[in-house]
Amino acid sequence: MDTYDVFVIGGGGAGSECAYRIGESKRFRVAMAEHDKLGGECNNYGCVPTKAMLAAAKLAHSLDRAEEFGIRIKGDIEIDFPKIMERVNRIVAHSVRYGSEPFTDIGVEVFLGPTASFTSPHELALDGKRVKAKKVIVATGTDAAAPPIPGLAEAGYWTNKEATNPPHLPSTIAILGAGPIGVEFAQIFARLGSKVTVIEALDRVLPPEDPDSGAVIAEAFDDEGIEVITAAKVERVEKSNGKRRLHIAGGRMVSADVLLVATGRTPRMKDLNPDAAGIELDERGRPVLTEGLRSTTARHVWVAGDATGELLFTHVATYEAGLVSGTVLSGRARKRDYRVVPKVTFCEPEVASVGVTEQQARDAGREVRIGKLDFADNERADIDGLTRGLAKVVADAETGEVLGGHIVGTGAGEMIHEIVAIMAGRGKAGVAGKAIHAYPTLSETVKGALEQASADAG
Ligand SMILES: Cc1cc2nc3c(=O)[nH]c(=O)nc-3n(C[C@H](O)[C@H](O)[C@H](O)COP(=O)(O)OP(=O)(O)OC[C@H]3O[C@@H](n4cnc5c(N)ncnc54)[C@H](O)[C@@H]3O)c2cc1C
Repeated sequence: MDTYDVFVIGGGGAGSECAYRIGESKRFRVAMAEHDKLGGECNNYGCVPTKAMLAAAKLAHSLDRAEEFGIRIKGDIEIDFPKIMERVNRIVAHSVRYGSEPFTDIGVEVFLGPTASFTSPHELALDGKRVKAKKVIVATGTDAAAPPIPGLAEAGYWTNKEATNPPHLPSTIAILGAGPIGVEFAQIFARLGSKVTVIEALDRVLPPEDPDSGAVIAEAFDDEGIEVITAAKVERVEKSNGKRRLHIAGGRMVSADVLLVATGRTPRMKDLNPDAAGIELDERGRPVLTEGLRSTTARHVWVAGDATGELLFTHVATYEAGLVSGTVLSGRARKRDYRVVPKVTFCEPEVASVGVTEQQARDAGREVRIGKLDFADNERADIDGLTRGLAKVVADAETGEVLGGHIVGTGAGEMIHEIVAIMAGRGKAGVAGKAIHAYPTLSETVKGALEQASADAG
């Protein structure tokens, strides 16, 4: 039986980064198993295809607004959905074009196809083959989680996998969940021509974000004809005459050709047989881990990326992979630090945030000073016809330290990194707010919010 020093399970962002970093050192015999596609969820069914679909949806929307700018388009704008998906698939293929070569080049063995499953703490089955591993890194990602609604499974639904490779553009689509994934898909399908209804159990759009941010998107969706039903409990789903009918408490019913479930994710553990390795899972199916991402019960196992069940972002997966591979390479435990993690929802306008919301800061007993400005007062936004949105800064009232930033607007996913940089250095709102920002830029609104939030503001 082959024995590896380090065996990495999963070839997504986290697993690839671990296998490459550790393999590159040439000090260990390393292997990686991927049972579907290298690049994982992000490249194949997540970040890359959704952003490529959004690029087409945004362009279609801009063309719809051309007359506002004095540009008349002769004839109708036509959406050629198969052509859009051809471009999306080309971009996805380009993002994974290197395949397993970079790994095999540095001596990492890649098992493409088999599902890795523990048979004992140090033994893994790879379908027919068995291997031994001294250390194991679990980077198996997540599966879409569907809520336990009667009739849902029988009626049939899409997850992000089907939605990023759809057989056709649905004429009507109901989306369960108004989190980042639901919101991005809602705008993609609506702008390409589907009639979209979003159903959210909580009382607002983008529940994890500051309510001020969610309110901007709710307004934008209303303008675009995307129906959003919040505080809605779907009691049952049925399929009738080819349509999915969602019965909502209170008597309302939504009917659509396609139902897309975007209600959260659960760590992909079931094929892994974590019990055989002695990996303890909590009541939500997440591995119980130390601050260094090591299993508390199976000390030769580390977990990186979405499989941890926390902060499901590619940039966090890469960060965690760096932390775990650094620990394996050096033999010294490192502690995770999630104080400054930016989050972006790539709808239009973009929603970006870092650190705490105003409410979270107050709930933690902090006295805060808030800076908040609308892009409606920004000249660059007016020039570009993109005035919707705001910049909000949460700072400690006494020290002025920036604790959080929330930006909704064009390019918010880029602008948030000003706040990221300030927070990384534990900087003060006043210092950054006094710095000269170029005119005319949207960043001037971020500067204004920083000034307002500064401890020495009047
Ligand atoms: C629709 C959507 C949009 C997203 N957009 C963004 C975005 O814009 N920005 C962002 O930062 N994040 C985004 N994400 C999140 C991002 O995709 C994840 O955070 C990222 O993919 C996590 O990487 P990972 O390596 O931990 O897991 P994954 O990418 O899920 O990779 C895990 C891999 O392990 C494999 N695997 C699982 N079990 C086994 C096994 N037993 N044996 C062998 N192989 C196995 C899987 O096939 C998979 O390829 C999005 C997610 C979705 C669903």
